Amino acid sequence: MDCETLLAYLSDYIDRNLSEDLSQAAQDHLRTCQNCRIVLDSTQRTILLARQHTQTVIPAERRQHLFEQIQSAFEKRL
Ligand SMILES: [Zn+2]
Repeated sequence: MDCETLLAYLSDYIDRNLSEDLSQAAQDHLRTCQNCRIVLDSTQRTILLARQHTQTVIPAERRQHLFEQIQSAFEKRL
């Protein structure tokens, strides 16, 4: 799996919506790629923080928006 693929699956990975194969491939990539670990980390932290503040699940739409922001921040760093 490469970075682009991982980013495409990241949201589902966090939600544990991936098949076992994909999830395993994502984990393998994350083990070797610091950039993606950072993206995963900040995505998870942001989602967690938002949950703590609102006590509600972030609507899918907002999460998608959030994820796109993080993704574009990541792409600028490449
Ligand atoms: Zn990567």
